[in-house]
Amino acid sequence: MAAITLRELTKVYPGGVRALDALDLEIADGEFFALLGPSGCGKSTLLRTIAGLEEATEGSVRLGDEDVTRTPPGRRNVGMVFQDYALFPHMTVTDNIAYPLRIKKASRPERHKAAAEVAGELGLDGLLGRRPGELSGGQQQRVALARAMAARPQVFLLDEPLSNLDARLRLEARTFLKRLQQELGVTTVFVTHDQAEALAMADRIAVMEAGRIRQIGTPREVFRRP
Ligand code: ADP
Ligand code: ADP
Repeated sequence: MAAITLRELTKVYPGGVRALDALDLEIADGEFFALLGPSGCGKSTLLRTIAGLEEATEGSVRLGDEDVTRTPPGRRNVGMVFQDYALFPHMTVTDNIAYPLRIKKASRPERHKAAAEVAGELGLDGLLGRRPGELSGGQQQRVALARAMAARPQVFLLDEPLSNLDARLRLEARTFLKRLQQELGVTTVFVTHDQAEALAMADRIAVMEAGRIRQIGTPREVFRRP
């Protein structure tokens, strides 16, 4: 069964912009899937609609065999990393990581245990008491990733998570993300405008244009010279 199934998914923003236009897409369980396309083609909207941060205007979103089209974001089993990480500046690393578990009403000891565990997996053990302002860009990115993982989601949604890193950290983060996905087998949807990044990381790539998918396939299929 597909991990994510989108049927005729349409998002029209107030004001009339049609950011998604009857888009159909199936993403397989465990797949590392890249969304590529020019600025404004609807990549972020697609991720946000899967996460439930935007409500679909028409069409449906399924996660596994569950229709979540009208399910609020806190009750969807997804973890999202934003381009600017969107960490809470006044909270410690532990509280940032544990935040999704608070939304799910886990107890304080449960939250701290889960946060410490994920922090260990991402090499953040020494940083638990710090606040985001006291971390490097690469460390902040790992905290954002840890927060997305804390509730052990079925699906990771990554919105240009590497775009604020310098070239060296970016390469390191690519390798790291890929390893994480292989070890945990979590279905990952990754937005980028960087072809090389999509090529290096994705099992499959969809190229979007004006709220639709223009092309879809393996990196070889999508980038094959005519
Ligand atoms: P991408 O991530 O590919 O750059 P977006 O999903 O951010 O594209 O945007 C798709 C289209 O929807 C663009 O025309 C953008 O201006 C518009 N859009 C995005 N967010 C909003 C919003 N909150 N309100 C109105 N229009 C929006
Ligand atoms: P919004 O105005 O979009 O409703 P919120 O007040 O819910 O924003 O959240 C503030 C910031 O925290 C947002 O930038 C959002 O990206 C981030 N955020 C909200 N909920 C979560 C969550 N469950 N996991 C990770 N980040 C979240």
